[in-house]
Amino acid sequence: MSTSSIYIHIPFCKTKCPYCDFASWANKENLIDRYCSALISEIGSKCEVYNTYLSSKDNQPSIETIFIGGGTPSLLHPNYYERILNELKKYFTIANDCEITLELNPGTAKKEYLSGYKSLGINRISIGAQSFNETILEILGRKHTVSETYEAIELIKECGFTNFNLDLIYAVPGMTKEIWLSTINTVLRLESTHISAYSLTIEPNTPFEYIYKDPKQLPSDDNSCDLYLELCTQLKNKDFNHYEVSNFAKNGFESKHNLNYWCGNTFYAFGVNAYRYLNGLRTSNTKELEAYIANPNIETIHDYPIDYNFEKIMLNSRLNQGFDINLLNTISKKSSLEITQTIKDLSNLGYLELLDNKIHLTDRGMFVNNEILLKLI
Ligand code: SF4
Repeated sequence: MSTSSIYIHIPFCKTKCPYCDFASWANKENLIDRYCSALISEIGSKCEVYNTYLSSKDNQPSIETIFIGGGTPSLLHPNYYERILNELKKYFTIANDCEITLELNPGTAKKEYLSGYKSLGINRISIGAQSFNETILEILGRKHTVSETYEAIELIKECGFTNFNLDLIYAVPGMTKEIWLSTINTVLRLESTHISAYSLTIEPNTPFEYIYKDPKQLPSDDNSCDLYLELCTQLKNKDFNHYEVSNFAKNGFESKHNLNYWCGNTFYAFGVNAYRYLNGLRTSNTKELEAYIANPNIETIHDYPIDYNFEKIMLNSRLNQGFDINLLNTISKKSSLEITQTIKDLSNLGYLELLDNKIHLTDRGMFVNNEILLKLI
């Protein structure tokens, strides 16, 4: 029996953050009901097709993780998730210890909803805290306050959620090392099991692209790297395992969903702009909300030639478990002598370590993992 993950996309938000290029929309709550019906219909019709490849119920894919992301899934009443999860159960065997995560944005947490999520089996909450400094939240254009994040954490704890993640953003214009350290210290007091931290990136076609036209308005790469390394040091001192470039977890609380993705396992995905990976094929749904609601079954096949070993290195290099040096030889244009020399040079510069034939990027190396791979490949 294969093990797999499911991603469910909920694209509704209270407001649109000016840096965000995700498939998410504000002021479209009137479409929630129709959207969920479309999503359920997509699950039904696509799974009928998937199941024609499965000979018996015993062969139904076992689902180890479900991630309900967005958007702001915490805007939706638990009834919607009850319908969605029930539909999934018709086609998949949900493992007893399935990790089921729901994303929540501060300012949207409601006790009644959280209790409902809990009774549906949702057992992990990912909170879009982003910062514990009001000025940084304002610069990011977030509409929530720091006290709303505290309230959300209190509420999820009251409702029995002990496994929760806090999302943070660093390298924000105006963010000093003191501000970042104070956010890290605050986070460490809040007893989350998991922390994800992303560097602010200016995405095309977002308001930030126009606001921050001049790169000088943004923190330099050196400054951003300093903030990242500071985070890595502080979290490691408090027993967080730095298991992926942007992810840190207390022992045993690494996100199984993330790991399944980075290990290249099967990924089902439903919802607008959802991307899946099934039988070596990547496909995605339309990015247009209304078009998705009108026909949730259309998908695009991404048939770019994937070199399996290349993909494996790309994904595994993000993890602290590293990747096999022999894989490099299969895809690199360099001779093995050149690869050995490059590894030695990068190791001397503190970007990687070679242990038992596996290449592990250091914290410094993880910050520039794409550049490191380009040098090796
Ligand atoms: S809350 Fe998240 S998904 Fe929604 S607009 Fe802001 S960053 Fe994007």
